[in-house]
Amino acid sequence: MRLSVVIPCFNEERGLAQLHEELSRVLPGVAEEFEVILVDDGSSDGTLRELRALAESDPRFTYLALSRNFGKEAAMLAGLSQSRGEVVAIMDADLQHPPELLGQMTSLLSNGYDQVVARRTRHGEPVLRKMISKLYYRVINKVVDVELEDGVGDFRVLTRRAVQALLSLGEYNRFSKGLFAWIGFDTAIVDYENVLRQAGDSTWTFRKLLNYGIDGVVSFNNRPLRLAIYLGGLVTALSFGYAAWLLVYALRDGVAVPGYLTLMCGVLGLGGLQLLFLGVIGEYLGRIYYESKQRPHFLVKESSGPREVPVAVPL
Ligand code: UDP
Ligand code: MG
Repeated sequence: MRLSVVIPCFNEERGLAQLHEELSRVLPGVAEEFEVILVDDGSSDGTLRELRALAESDPRFTYLALSRNFGKEAAMLAGLSQSRGEVVAIMDADLQHPPELLGQMTSLLSNGYDQVVARRTRHGEPVLRKMISKLYYRVINKVVDVELEDGVGDFRVLTRRAVQALLSLGEYNRFSKGLFAWIGFDTAIVDYENVLRQAGDSTWTFRKLLNYGIDGVVSFNNRPLRLAIYLGGLVTALSFGYAAWLLVYALRDGVAVPGYLTLMCGVLGLGGLQLLFLGVIGEYLGRIYYESKQRPHFLVKESSGPREVPVAVPL
């Protein structure tokens, strides 16, 4: 079996030596032949310098440098587009994805699976974050069409045809968790114990997580827009009922002037709902705007041999 390992790297200079060490210890036992494709996602530290040295000293390690920081999704895509193995693994550079698991994961592929994903326990994470993510997955699985699993990240092993399937999805807004689920194929799950980051800092801030959550909701279907229609219908029906009741009341007893509270509640409540759904519509519109430009997902500024990688890689 020929294995490609795709690793996005953003400001990971401190961890790369250890990554190289671990991978060159583990991978020979996993596949007869392997290549590691490290993708520098426009790092501002010495990551690229480290990658050049690494590729120089060990030809099994190749690299690809993007012209700026395009984000992890784009970096993974860049690596996938250059991978040549029959089996492709995706993992993080910070050793939070234990390479030891790759043996077990790839061996599951021979049982007929096309994707094997690793699911981490959330041990050692702040309780609040654990609770929020649990709630989030419960809600999102009601909203999206694909099944998303809590604790499952991008650490996974794919067969060539699953990679081809992924590369055939050309959308610019990539919510990869959903894309992995969307392509289908038989998927196996391997559990592992949560590993804390070895070196450097996680790039996830609360704001990024929030945006990621919204992406998940609006990336997969137009159900939030449907919700606007249903809610609009409900509010309209209720207000007709209320208006009818007010009319009867006014005809019988005359107009009573008080009603400030009702008025304020109506105006504020409806104003809020309108803004909310205006935002939802805007979110979809923004996506159409980005998709319609048809820009490449990433640009390549440098790569290690043996193949010349074009600046804009057609997927
Ligand atoms: N990463 C990337 N581009 C980015 C942010 C992150 O390629 O803009 C890489 C990073 O180098 C790491 C992986 O994506 O290999 C996961 O990032 P991180 O460890 O910050 O996320 P976490 O593990 O906290 O989810
Ligand atoms: Mg990490």
